Amino acid sequence: MPPGVTRYRGGVTRSTARADLIIVGAGLAGSAAAWAAAARGMSVVVVEAFEAGHKRGSSHGSARIFRHAYADPLYVKLMKDALRRWEQLQDEAGEQFLQFTGGLDYGPLRDPEGLHAVLASCGVPADLLRAEEAAERWPASPSTPGSAPPGPAPPRAAWSCTTPEPGCSTPAT
Ligand SMILES: Cc1cc2nc3c(=O)[nH]c(=O)nc-3n(C[C@H](O)[C@H](O)[C@H](O)COP(=O)(O)OP(=O)(O)OC[C@H]3O[C@@H](n4cnc5c(N)ncnc54)[C@H](O)[C@@H]3O)c2cc1C
Repeated sequence: MPPGVTRYRGGVTRSTARADLIIVGAGLAGSAAAWAAAARGMSVVVVEAFEAGHKRGSSHGSARIFRHAYADPLYVKLMKDALRRWEQLQDEAGEQFLQFTGGLDYGPLRDPEGLHAVLASCGVPADLLRAEEAAERWPASPSTPGSAPPGPAPPRAAWSCTTPEPGCSTPAT
């Protein structure tokens, strides 16, 4: 926890601690809020039902996808801001959390042309590729005839949209 943040674990039923801010839940949202408030000089108490790094919350998992490709420009802008803060957290922690893998969206439901237009309007680098070009670059992608995994094949797209930057955020353990 950052300086200025106190964490009380389950089992503590009474405390005389005083704080500017009390946060219930030390998942991603609670931890991020505590970090931001402490960085602004507030004293913060985080109340968590389980031990640090427990596996019962939705923040738990081997990795989380970090993507910029949303149809709503507001989300794209929020992701740009979030990425900046993740990078700041990496610098302060001296650990690498983010692995940039690139992202690929295809199929009519993902509307690659629409996604590309939104990304371009928000200044996020992205390529719009014809389905054939995408199949050449990613031969195992389901848009390649004969390479789809078992089960119903996803609809083939006229266009695919690829973003070079987004990837995975990986918890330390
Ligand atoms: C299967 C799955 C896959 C996902 N994949 C992605 C992804 O790829 N990319 C992405 O961006 N997002 C993904 N998400 C969403 C993302 O993980 C969640 O939005 C995020 O983790 C939510 O964080 P949170 O802090 O709100 O909740 P949580 O991580 O659940 O944290 C809540 C915390 O509050 C504690 N708590 C609850 N009640 C109390 C109480 N009464 N007293 C004390 N403590 C309490 C819990 O123990 C827990 O630690 C995924 C979610 C799931 C479930």
